[in-house]
Amino acid sequence: AAAGRQRSFDGRGRTADGHEVALLANVGDARGAAAAAAAGAEGIGLFRTEFCFLDRAEEPSVADQTAAYREVLAHFPGRKVVVRTLDAGADKPLPFLTDTAEANPALGVRGLRTARRSPAVLDHQLEAIAAAAAAEEAQVWVMAPMVATVAEAESFVAACAAHGLDRAGVMVEVPAAALLAGPILARAHFASVGTNDLTQYVMAADRLLGSLADLSDSWQPAVLRLVEETCRGGAQQSRPVGVCGEAAADPALAVVLVGLGVATLSMTPRAIPDVAAVLAATDLQRCRELARAAVDAESAEEARARVRAGLPVLA
Ligand code: PEP
Ligand code: MG
Repeated sequence: AAAGRQRSFDGRGRTADGHEVALLANVGDARGAAAAAAAGAEGIGLFRTEFCFLDRAEEPSVADQTAAYREVLAHFPGRKVVVRTLDAGADKPLPFLTDTAEANPALGVRGLRTARRSPAVLDHQLEAIAAAAAAEEAQVWVMAPMVATVAEAESFVAACAAHGLDRAGVMVEVPAAALLAGPILARAHFASVGTNDLTQYVMAADRLLGSLADLSDSWQPAVLRLVEETCRGGAQQSRPVGVCGEAAADPALAVVLVGLGVATLSMTPRAIPDVAAVLAATDLQRCRELARAAVDAESAEEARARVRAGLPVLA
């Protein structure tokens, strides 16, 4: 890191020329929310609700869920908090939702797909989120993980509306959702790209397999092209697109994402100051030029090298 790089964060993410990019936090519980508030996060861009219930053998009651969600919302009065419905399955099995006998859990009944088998669990969770939202002042947005089709987006938005939750969005983690972002965002109010899973599914490389780390790299131009496609769909429908995968925590990649049209970046709280500093040193036009250079690269290494060379603030 550059010796002179600004370390503090004044609470608003923006480029050198004042284009605002909300810098939000990824959290899994109230402790994470406290850390996010301390780091100056403007809100929460990903509340991984499944982390509250990893040890439960049975579905938590609506009252237990409401209490857990309220604890997180309480740290961000008046602020945006994106609550993700249970992303059970694959690397995060929940005993009450996950079929552990699947041969390919990453391609199985995970995320929103669990609502096919257990629709009541989603319904109870939305009831608890709505109750928590009514009891706390935070601005609650709700989003579904692992959406692959327009129909899934449409039914999730309808399920949210039935509970009075009128800011309903989808994660873009499946390549199909990136390619159909336009029609999906004609139904959903926002999208958030989960670059961890999007990379896993674009590159066909298990995100937990260290030996494939070169493939599990969000700098892969194929991944960046799908982020670009998602942003194109968002622009078409005038709906915001955020990123809440690990890519948002890499300052050089954050510049690329902003250049592609991403409106919000959500990351582990400790990454916020460095991302804020690099954005503050880079104007929007430069972000766009660097995004073009990265998308047009032929490899992850080339994309990374092109962008780093264009960001003296990282030297
Ligand atoms: C992602 O896939 O990028 C994401 C943010 O979700 P998770 O890491 O919880 O799967
Ligand atoms: Mg994911």
